[in-house]
Amino acid sequence: MPETEGASDATAELAARLVDGDRRALARAITLIESTRADHRRQAETLSSTLLAHTGKSLRLGISGVPGVGKSTFIEAFGLHLIKAGHRVAVLAVDPSSPRTGGSILGDKTRMEQLSRHPGAFIRPSPSGGTLGGVARRTREAMLCVEAAGFDVVLIETVGVGQSEIAVAGLTDMFVLLLTPAGGDDLQGIKKGIVELADLIVVNKADGDLIAAAERARRDYAAALHLLRPPAGTWRPKVMKCSAMGGEGIGDVWSSVDEFRDTAGASGAITERRAEQAAAWMWDEITETLMAELKHDQRIQSEIIRLEDQVRNGAISPSKAARAILEQFSPGRDLGLNQD
Ligand code: GDP
Repeated sequence: MPETEGASDATAELAARLVDGDRRALARAITLIESTRADHRRQAETLSSTLLAHTGKSLRLGISGVPGVGKSTFIEAFGLHLIKAGHRVAVLAVDPSSPRTGGSILGDKTRMEQLSRHPGAFIRPSPSGGTLGGVARRTREAMLCVEAAGFDVVLIETVGVGQSEIAVAGLTDMFVLLLTPAGGDDLQGIKKGIVELADLIVVNKADGDLIAAAERARRDYAAALHLLRPPAGTWRPKVMKCSAMGGEGIGDVWSSVDEFRDTAGASGAITERRAEQAAAWMWDEITETLMAELKHDQRIQSEIIRLEDQVRNGAISPSKAARAILEQFSPGRDLGLNQD
């Protein structure tokens, strides 16, 4: 099969160039990963396995906060600070609404103007379209690509309004939540569950008229912290403040991230998180693949429609219908079909 061989040669060459740090190869690899075409998916899988040996060495940071809190201003200042300290920084995003709707993030690179032009940085908008699971999966693969290309800090941005935080916390070593000085009580439209994911809370906009309010908010959150995320190893979540616009406190945020890496790293908590994430990823892949196979299995389509109709009419219980469908999908397996 020369065509397949040709494709795998091309994938191997793409991987080699990417590992060499070729930015165009990196961009092409991510485009391949984002494609939904079946042949591209297969190439992307080959690419991911080829790159695996070169991945895992970066620090993976999730950064979240509601629109307007200052995420892009923060990432610009933070990223430039890291580059100055000798790091190479990749910025990815998980935003299932991106880039067509109003709430989109990283839709255009002008949001991080200096960083996006810097040779030490690589910025990639969120893959568009599809389910959150699909977007997160493509971002995870993109993360492996940027790691293989030598970026040692990966920032994954997301909007702090829903499920995507949970997905990003499931991709990263550390989750940083940006809040405004607006006050600790109402949590600014952020769901409590998201605050519970934070390893570090940063109150942004601690400048001008907002300095006193930022300090109050910092103290409020710090007081509430024992209710929040259980510590990672011996690391306890912290609250800090900064002004992304003025560049104040950015270095301190990085020191805390570094401290997290030392503390949580030494106790094995980061390794443990990554192990959990890898196992969860495997199960996600299994679920997604099985669901896709089931939904496209021509042998049982009419039966699925018939049973779904019966469920809608109340003629059969959902669990019984589900088992009947699964039995036909996987004949011979005892699914307890006769139990109710
Ligand atoms: P995002 O939607 O979370 O990415 O937020 P942006 O970075 O686009 O910032 C939203 C608005 O807040 C912009 O007008 C920024 O200039 C402003 N902003 C961001 N960081 C700061 C800060 O540290 N202090 C002040 N005063 N304003 C800021």
